[in-house]
Amino acid sequence: MDGLLTFLGTGTSMGVPTLGCDCQVCTSTDPHDRRLRPSVLLRWREPGESRERVVVIDTGPDFREQALRNGLTRVDAVFYTHSHADHIMGMDDLRPLSFTVFREGGPILLYASSEAAKVLERIYDYTLSPSATYPNRARVKLEPLADSTRVYGVDFLRVPLLHGEMEISGFRFGRAAYLTDVSAIPESSFSLLTGLDTLVVSALRHKPHPTHATVEQAIAWARRIGARQTWLTHIAHELGHEQTNRALPDNIRLAYDGLSLPVNLEPANR
Ligand SMILES: [Zn+2]
Ligand SMILES: [Zn+2]
Repeated sequence: MDGLLTFLGTGTSMGVPTLGCDCQVCTSTDPHDRRLRPSVLLRWREPGESRERVVVIDTGPDFREQALRNGLTRVDAVFYTHSHADHIMGMDDLRPLSFTVFREGGPILLYASSEAAKVLERIYDYTLSPSATYPNRARVKLEPLADSTRVYGVDFLRVPLLHGEMEISGFRFGRAAYLTDVSAIPESSFSLLTGLDTLVVSALRHKPHPTHATVEQAIAWARRIGARQTWLTHIAHELGHEQTNRALPDNIRLAYDGLSLPVNLEPANR
């Protein structure tokens, strides 16, 4: 079974252009240098099914704009990597999409670790609290994040990662993996990352940062993991698209907003 992976946003937490900045990248006219907050979308169709299935990883503050740009009309489930604002603050914009799905018989499932669920429950108390009565609240339901979660025929494997001191989640689906906000990959997680066609990994900039990998670190992981193609995301304004790509190895490129890639969703022989 094949699916289509789309980058809804490839920018760092502040987005690019960054407010108040007039650097070369923030003032660039190249559309590849405009990056919304990080998120991806996976769509696929199960054999014999007419309806397309849609999973989003993270709903950041740009989610509404991203959904409009990409013609998103339904969402079956959301997986959360962690609870930082650039990954969760668009959850409320699931409301109109959740009403449609709700009418079809069920809420949108939100898969989150207990840490991320706690933050979501605090911020979106008016939606997620068992006593919530706000009539136009999103029809969503928090689900615990397991090591492996099947959504309409596709297995999403949780890949434990470190984001500074914080343990967060990456995800593998078929022959692709999405690892954002990573500063270290625990040794035990590498065995979940064998046999990949497509690796997406975050790379903030060249200068070291306490909670994010540099381009050089991401290249080293890409080489070790050995996916056919690696795409870098969660990119800060220090990295111009064209200039950075020219210096990267052949099978490693900066992703950009709107980029879509076919992915093989069969469980790989790992
Ligand atoms: Zn982030
Ligand atoms: Zn983060």
